[in-house]
Amino acid sequence: MPTLVAPQATIEEYKNVTAESLVGWVSPSLLETARAKSLQAEFGGIPDADDISDEAEMRRVKLLNAQASSYLLGLVQQQPKPAQMLIYSEVAAKYLPELVRLWRERPQAQNAAAELLNTTTTTAYFVRYMRSPAAAGLVGMQAKRIAEQFDTIATYTADDVASLGQFLSTLLLLQGDEEVETRDKEILVRRMPEWQTKYPGRLAKEVAERCLGIFREEQMMMFMTGQMKKMLSASLEKCGGPGCTKMTRQDGTELLQCSRCKSAVYCSVEHQKAAWASHKKICFSPAF
Ligand SMILES: [Zn+2]
Ligand SMILES: [Zn+2]
Repeated sequence: MPTLVAPQATIEEYKNVTAESLVGWVSPSLLETARAKSLQAEFGGIPDADDISDEAEMRRVKLLNAQASSYLLGLVQQQPKPAQMLIYSEVAAKYLPELVRLWRERPQAQNAAAELLNTTTTTAYFVRYMRSPAAAGLVGMQAKRIAEQFDTIATYTADDVASLGQFLSTLLLLQGDEEVETRDKEILVRRMPEWQTKYPGRLAKEVAERCLGIFREEQMMMFMTGQMKKMLSASLEKCGGPGCTKMTRQDGTELLQCSRCKSAVYCSVEHQKAAWASHKKICFSPAF
């Protein structure tokens, strides 16, 4: 398989990265409408939409990562950090149900849809979706795939393993491990220590520790993941007003929800207005 190196991104190039151009690598039918067609030529073609072989899926993952990393490189050069949240919020708001459908449909543990979803996990949209009935069984499904494909995954790069483990750990901290089948959990608890040995000092080791800590219900890890869950859920549970930490309105009733995105809450109309200048950048009408 040819290797793909992320192109040297210029500021101009990274401006062409849109929600559509990222989603386009996952679902080629969406790429038709994307502005990133030039990249298609640069990388010498993409797999057909109906090709769901392991090789085609891995190629989609690499193409997606090449573009996403060129985008991130552009961000580092220009340093507008919130811009990162902006594009991933847009991806999540508009394409989450479609990406989850593709993730369920394609059998590989590492598939392009899961890879792109992994970049959206810090958005309120992802957290809200994961609480909905539509997200039932996702953590169990991903844990099963990793357990069953462990030997294949052993041939991946440390970065690919890290990305897989990171996504699973986020699913576990948001949904818990109750839906993970006992047999799959046993395999993961037995084999994930291999990542700890194989990737010292790397993210892959760290995420293995996180997953194992949750499976084994280690006190320290349960505390840490509890804090991370709180952080990820903050904009759904805590007033988004500047410096405000209220979790109910003045009269004790539920916080007011942003009517457009349904993914931000406020204790008062005043605080909603005060937050609007920054919130409007990540406020999209969601597809769910
Ligand atoms: Zn407030
Ligand atoms: Zn909103």
